[in-house]
Amino acid sequence: MTTRPQVREVSKIVTAHKQREGGGFIVRRPVPSLGMQLCDPFLLIDEMGPVDYRPGEAVGAPDHPHRGFETVTYVLDGELEHEDSAGHRGALRAGDVQWMTAGAGIIHSEEPSRALRERGGRVHGFQVWVNLPARLKMTTPRYQEIPAAKIPTAETPDGKARVRVVAGQALGARAVIDTHTPIVYQDWSIDDGADFTTPLPADHQALAYVFQGSVRLGDEERPVADGQMAILGPGESVRFRGVPGGGRLLLLAGVPLGEPVARYGPFVMNSEDEIAQAVRDYQSGRMGEITRTAKVD
Ligand code: MN
Repeated sequence: MTTRPQVREVSKIVTAHKQREGGGFIVRRPVPSLGMQLCDPFLLIDEMGPVDYRPGEAVGAPDHPHRGFETVTYVLDGELEHEDSAGHRGALRAGDVQWMTAGAGIIHSEEPSRALRERGGRVHGFQVWVNLPARLKMTTPRYQEIPAAKIPTAETPDGKARVRVVAGQALGARAVIDTHTPIVYQDWSIDDGADFTTPLPADHQALAYVFQGSVRLGDEERPVADGQMAILGPGESVRFRGVPGGGRLLLLAGVPLGEPVARYGPFVMNSEDEIAQAVRDYQSGRMGEITRTAKVD
């Protein structure tokens, strides 16, 4: 008799609420929300859009600081531009990922591209905040920008489920992004008729956020629908089953840090003293500033 890795069952379902962010764009946010302040090590999950902007409408998040964690931006549609106090600037297009370790502190802006602002268009994507352990909160800021073409993809033998592996590994594909702590970040598309099980380390806390259609999870086949996040219980694998119309989800997992969390807006530290220090450092300019050359617009 063969033993099958224990399948994780859904332990809780949280429905994302809508919230206004940055310069006024709307996100769907399953974490933090009532009853789910954090899903250690994940501090925040924001789904931006999908929204179709008319010309002149698109807004982003102008200059703001971060300290003590990582921001992971994954664009599904649209074009976002970013600039920061360390001199990085660039654009993220459909399928691209930016994994930014804010660490000791950075000031950045995240805005729709000029073309998008002028002509309008669709914006859809995610920003996930990954907490850093105390020993890394003041690490040197780091950027990893991975264009869509470099994100490994894989599919099940029957082709009914496909994955883009941003972090971790699945179906034999291994992510190119290096993470400070073990993290799984995967974008799964699951068609009707799919039924497969993928391993997920037992020491990880895991969740699935469905952002299109619906899917069934676990041996219990719990339905999880668009805008819902399923917290997965203990086990060593995740079982997905497709439903008519299919579904798409982010599978996120990581080893819980189990440390105190003190958060204040864009700063996430371990104590209120460290938060006060972050505010002082920001206000006194110790997180730097974005150097801009004169803009034509
Ligand atoms: Mn930011």
